[in-house]
Amino acid sequence: MLTKEDIYKKAFEAKRNALKDKVTRREMMLAAAYNACPKLKDIDRRLSSLGATLAINAISGQDVSELKKQSEALSNEKKVLLCKYGAEDIKYDCPVCMDTGYVNGKICDCVKHLASSFVAEELSEEMPLESSRFDNFDLKYYPDKDTADGNPRRRMTAILKVCREYALKFKPKDYGNLLFMGNSGLGKTHLTLAVVSAVIEKGYIPVYGAAENLFTQIEKEKFSGENKGAYEAMIKSDLLVIDDLGAEMATSFTKSALYNLINSRLLSGRPTVINTNLTMKEIESRYTARISSRLIGNYDAYKFIGPDVRQQKAVEKIGK
Ligand SMILES: [Zn+2]
Repeated sequence: MLTKEDIYKKAFEAKRNALKDKVTRREMMLAAAYNACPKLKDIDRRLSSLGATLAINAISGQDVSELKKQSEALSNEKKVLLCKYGAEDIKYDCPVCMDTGYVNGKICDCVKHLASSFVAEELSEEMPLESSRFDNFDLKYYPDKDTADGNPRRRMTAILKVCREYALKFKPKDYGNLLFMGNSGLGKTHLTLAVVSAVIEKGYIPVYGAAENLFTQIEKEKFSGENKGAYEAMIKSDLLVIDDLGAEMATSFTKSALYNLINSRLLSGRPTVINTNLTMKEIESRYTARISSRLIGNYDAYKFIGPDVRQQKAVEKIGK
């Protein structure tokens, strides 16, 4: 797993290489243009002598408007010729930073978006990121009727709103944590991925993983030296999403790893979202009271309710 720094390094390197390619290509085209068109050299000579005269006349206070006109006309002629021979000016992907990646000493937004796109690319290979959006989260699967748990349509409408707002106002520091509870097949992963997509679109770097997968990565790093940086990536990511907490084997290692993840992120004010099929009681007995108390005290918990959406969709497919 790549840390935030690694991802940014990769983004800067990609920008640097792309710019280098453009500069090299432009130099080659320039050389070819001068070879094919001797008039270019002649224009350069005239431009240079005009420039010198212009400077001298300007210093001595003479009118240089006519010389300026001549110089402009020559420059335009040169531009047209260069274009003709395929050696036009470099077209930057980002006119703001001219593909250097920095504006006024700060990282340009284009680098942030490139870094985020690497994360999205990687995540899309494992998760249905593209198809899990807010606008295709279909509330029709949640009946508008009162049940012992509440009214599923009303509940899920409210949760959808919470998620949209969370994503809209997201910032990577001193921001809220979410805990999504409820049975599987109720859309927890769908909504969490929609949040992740929105966070990525804003140019932030999230880490998303099933609890089992995240713990395995931490374990590998700790005990076999593989997977270097995995833990740091989880701790320092702009948003950490732990999906399906409780599906993994609970060992003393996973318990302490979970506590450290939750606690470190709370201490540094970094937001975390957790999905689980477990109830708070089950969390407490499966992990520890200090974990459940951290969640109760610092996470906004929402219980997903209703009939299994995955099953409903599967039935619909068979019916078609
Ligand atoms: Zn830029």
